[in-house]
Amino acid sequence: DEFELYFQPIRYAADGTPAMLEALLRWPQPDGSFIRPSDFIQLCEDTGLIIVLGRWVIHAAARAQSELAAHGWAGLPVAVNVSAMQLFNSDLLGEFIAATEAYGLAPSALHMELTESSLMHNPTQAMQVLKSLNAHGVVVSLDDFATGFSSMSDLRQLPLESLKIDRCFVTDVERNPRNAAICRALLSLGHSMGLVVVAEGVENQAQLDWLAAHGCDQVQGYLLGRPLPLGEVIALLE
Ligand code: C2E
Ligand code: MG
Ligand code: MG
Repeated sequence: DEFELYFQPIRYAADGTPAMLEALLRWPQPDGSFIRPSDFIQLCEDTGLIIVLGRWVIHAAARAQSELAAHGWAGLPVAVNVSAMQLFNSDLLGEFIAATEAYGLAPSALHMELTESSLMHNPTQAMQVLKSLNAHGVVVSLDDFATGFSSMSDLRQLPLESLKIDRCFVTDVERNPRNAAICRALLSLGHSMGLVVVAEGVENQAQLDWLAAHGCDQVQGYLLGRPLPLGEVIALLE
């Protein structure tokens, strides 16, 4: 019981209204500091602990969504990050169903974020799991898009709702022509596949203006709101 979930808003680029919250794991330490997910998620994956930790995250996210609903934010989904090991070695659909039912939520109240590298681990099995999730109304986004190795022939078949452009391409998009070219291409690719495109790591107004002007649908980053405990996010939303 040492872990906590923080929540970061994802907003519509056009008008800043909230589209959903992303749940991010935090491991607070007695001295007030935090061990970052980048320092322990890999270890949990290597040891298999990610299965039980991931189950805790899914339940905590569902509990958070029911609290959001109690504050008038019933329509604001919570997106949960899921590792490859959870996708391939656990009953992910069963866990999403159990968590949403435990809190009386619709299946679409929770979204799932998967990285392309975890999908490409085993595209055939990934396709089966994603299809069953999709059939039950669980919405899936592709995280850190364009940072791993993905096959377009596999990607085009997957039932996805959105692509998240990784922070490394967004960081200087307004003044780096190469990153701007990549973001334009990813926006065009995502939109022509009928997907919502989300930009991660938006830290300043120039980035936001560039993204909005180029038709990016949703934005996430410190400019739009840092990851915070649920109570603070609800206060921020209000
Ligand atoms: P991610 O899913 O791509 O999450 C986005 C990361 O970017 C988060 O880091 C967030 O705090 C950070 N971020 C958001 N806006 C900004 C910004 O404007 N500037 C900068 N510099 N950073 C920003 P965090 O929370 O450290 O998480 C890192 C990664 O750990 C996540 O990347 C995700 O892959 C993984 N992770 C976090 N929580 C979970 C979890 O519950 N389960 C699993 N399997 N992985 C998780
Ligand atoms: Mg994510
Ligand atoms: Mg990401």
